[in-house]
This record gives sequence, structure tokens and C-alpha cells, in this order.
Amino acid sequence: MKKILMLIILAALLLLVGCAAQESDYRTYDFFAMDTSMRLTLAGEDALSDASLTEQRIRALEDTLSRTKEDSLVARLNRGETVTDADLAALLRFCMDYTEKTDGAFDVTVADVVAAWGFTTDSYQVPDAETLAALLPYVGSDGITLDGNTVSLKENVRIDLGGIAKGYASDCVKELWDELGIESGIAALGGNIYCRGSKSDAAPWTVGIRDPKAADGYVGLLSLADRFAVTSGGYERWFEDENGNIYHHIIDPKTGYPARSGLSSVTVVSESGTAADALSTALYVLGADRAIALWRELGSFELVLVTEDGRVLVTEGLAESFDSASEDYSYEYIR
Ligand code: ADP
Ligand code: MG
Repeated sequence: MKKILMLIILAALLLLVGCAAQESDYRTYDFFAMDTSMRLTLAGEDALSDASLTEQRIRALEDTLSRTKEDSLVARLNRGETVTDADLAALLRFCMDYTEKTDGAFDVTVADVVAAWGFTTDSYQVPDAETLAALLPYVGSDGITLDGNTVSLKENVRIDLGGIAKGYASDCVKELWDELGIESGIAALGGNIYCRGSKSDAAPWTVGIRDPKAADGYVGLLSLADRFAVTSGGYERWFEDENGNIYHHIIDPKTGYPARSGLSSVTVVSESGTAADALSTALYVLGADRAIALWRELGSFELVLVTEDGRVLVTEGLAESFDSASEDYSYEYIR
């Protein structure tokens, strides 16, 4: 049931992105990778072959970064092997940098806690407090050892790149599209969206920000060109226990429990897909006040925050790009 709901939600999101592109001769190309529905929207004679190359690039990344593919570099690290790989070492350095920047809210060593809740295998369960308490000592960036391009994990430490891999993949798509000379298109890797250039009529792309409470509604629309927009929300993957409590897949690394920060979704707009993905996960954990404080401190991204009590907070850099889309929310600009 939840899977079906997720698919409907994704289809609605993808449809909206797709609609914007129908105005000229864009073609859409759908596939499923990294546990997510993906849609590429491209124009021109080479659209389909470009899309196919893009899919191959993403699948190759999945083969490297997936925690559940037995031969991936991440699976080998998690089995205690030492791995030498320049790209993986750079990505892990980036992760550790964001763990520090977000005061531990983004932390890829939360892997075993995510698994204890069953999110890794889609066999959901509520772990008992002792199980979580036994796992928490192994959460923390100091469990990752980096020496140049050589990586290893301390004993009992495992990593899960689910909070950053699609963002990293979207940066790799940008790089590939640079090489292929693609001027305009959209890559929607689930909730990680890369808008390249403008549409052929020079209008920006439109990205819908889902209403976390309504399967087919939007809280707002963003007009974007050459930007990444990444949304994290508890509504994307969750389950309900027999008492009706809801548990979602974004874990507070300090407690081991799904984050409850008063936010129902976080959208980060940035020129880096990897940073936007790490931040959207972290800021969902940190809540509105700390998210806004970090926005002021770092200054390298913009935000649309949706709160559980029905507010939409938009940072001023998006004033020209954001349009409200729901009567059920109140809207505020953050300056
Ligand atoms: P999605 O993958 O649904 O787009 P996110 O980017 O927010 O959403 O990533 C959530 C995933 O990241 C989880 O499924 C889990 O694998 C991992 N994760 C959960 N909590 C954290 C966290 N605090 N820091 C880093 N990764 C996390
Ligand atoms: Mg993320």
C-alpha cells in the first residue's frame, strides 16, 4: 500500500516536471534505479541515446555506492575490507565535511540504525531501545578512516549513502551532459532534480514542491534554470505500527529515532546536487530554526521549508522563483 502511494506521489511529481517540458519537442525517458523512479527529459535528435548514456552512468554509480549490492565498494567497506578509490574517497570526505557543518545531523555511519528500523530491506520494524543504544556508539565520522584515496571503517562501523547518492549522481549527470554538449533538460532522480539551462523557449523549468499532506497536491512551484532542487520529507518512506504511530526513514543520528523536528519537508536549491542532498536530509533533522541559521551561516543554498503546523518558509534568494500553490498553508519569506 505504502509502495503504491509512493509511486502515485512520484508519478504526480514527475508528471508536473514532464508537463513543463511538453511545450516543445522534449522527450521523456523513465527508468528505476537507486530504489527510485527516475525521469530524464531531453530534446533533440540524440535525446534517446543521451538518455540511455545517462541511465548507464547512474547504474554504474549505483553498482559502486549501493549498500545492498554485494560487490559494491560500499558493501565491501561494510564487510571490513580496505578500498582504494579516488571518487569514493572524495565523496566520503564531502560527507564528513557535512557531518561537521551540520553538527552531526547528516551522518552516513547511521547505516546500522537505518537497517534496525528495516528501511534497508523494506521489512519495517520498531527496534527496542537497547538495540538502538547498542548501535549508537558506532555512529560518528571518526569511524571512517581516510588515507589519500584509501578508505576503511573501524570495527562495527557501517555506512549508508542513501542520503547523498542521488545528489552525487545528479552532479555526475551534469558532468556527463557537459561532455555530451546538452544545453537543456531535466534529470529527476526521485526527489533530486537537476534543471539544466532553460527550456528551448528560454523560460525556466518548473519544479513542483509536493504537499506532504496531500498525495496529489503542491505547496509551491519553483522556476529554475541551472540549479539542483532536492526535497527530503518523512512522507517519502514510512510505516505505521499497530498503535498507529508513524516512523519515517530520516534518522536523527543523536537518538537513533526518526527525526521529529516540526518540519514535514525541506527543499534545498543549490548549484551542487551533492550538497543539496546532504543538506536536505540534515536540515530535516535540525528543524526550521537551525536550518535557517545554517542558511545564514553558509550562504551557498536557498530553502523552502514546510512545517507540520502549516507554514511554508521561503528564503529570500527564491523570492523571484517561488509561487505558492495551496490555500492550506501560510507563506513567509525569510530575510
Ligand atoms: P530520499 O533518499 O528519500 O530522497 P534523503 O536524501 O533524505 O531521502 O535520504 C534518506 C536516506 O538517507 C535514508 O533512507 C537512509 O538511507 C539515509 N539516512 C537516514 N538518516 C540519515 C542521516 N541522519 N544522515 C545521513 N543519512 C541518513
Ligand atoms: Mg538527502
